[in-house]
Amino acid sequence: MAEAPIVLILFGPPGCGKGTQGKRLAANLGIPTISTGDILRKAVRQGTELGREAKGYMDQGQLVPDDLMLGLIDERLAAEDARRGFILDGFPRTVAQADGLTRVLKEKDFEIRAVTNLVVERELLIERITARRVCSTCGATYNVRTLPPPPEGECGDPSVGCAGENVLQRKDDRAETVERRLDVYEASTAPLKAYYGGRGLLRDVDGQGTPEQVFERLQAAVA
Ligand code: ADP
Ligand code: ZN
Repeated sequence: MAEAPIVLILFGPPGCGKGTQGKRLAANLGIPTISTGDILRKAVRQGTELGREAKGYMDQGQLVPDDLMLGLIDERLAAEDARRGFILDGFPRTVAQADGLTRVLKEKDFEIRAVTNLVVERELLIERITARRVCSTCGATYNVRTLPPPPEGECGDPSVGCAGENVLQRKDDRAETVERRLDVYEASTAPLKAYYGGRGLLRDVDGQGTPEQVFERLQAAVA
């Protein structure tokens, strides 16, 4: 019999390290990370209908409406590469999205293995987000303090084979939008801790320290 699919949810506030850890976990487990933020940013770049609808919300640090997100996730989870499981980064972000996900997973007969909550102090979140720079071609992330982008704004990350385009600050990573995103997280997303905690799925993981240290803790939490 085939192994049961693995479903993991990376949970936590903006800047807690979901993207960085998601990539590592995916490589380790051989299943894709599905980042709704990355999917939306790509749609914005390509100017699709979804991108046009989502852009205003994203730039303001607000959530994209649930019906758009549920349509997006429905389609993405139906793809071939998601058949053996997946890691969700940035979804669900509201109780309505979590209910929607529960329905989709039931149809597929998939079960959530764990919801990992990466715990990081607000001050450090703000520091990390405002220092973040992202390659607009390959999505590689840098930090002007701890992992500076290559000179001239060129991304040459050999591990992703990116020939190089501009490494920029995301509009919503500017200081004036970051506070709003953290507030939106507290108001709309943090309640999901109780949602998944009540189902026995939530695992708090200390998200402070080096990416390697956090990854060790995360692996222990999902094993
Ligand atoms: P971060 O985790 O750093 O806040 P993301 O890259 O996950 O950033 O998301 C960026 C933006 O994309 C969010 O601020 C929001 O506007 C939109 N977005 C991403 N995922 C969702 C979602 N599940 N529901 C609503 N909006 C979303
Ligand atoms: Zn790149």
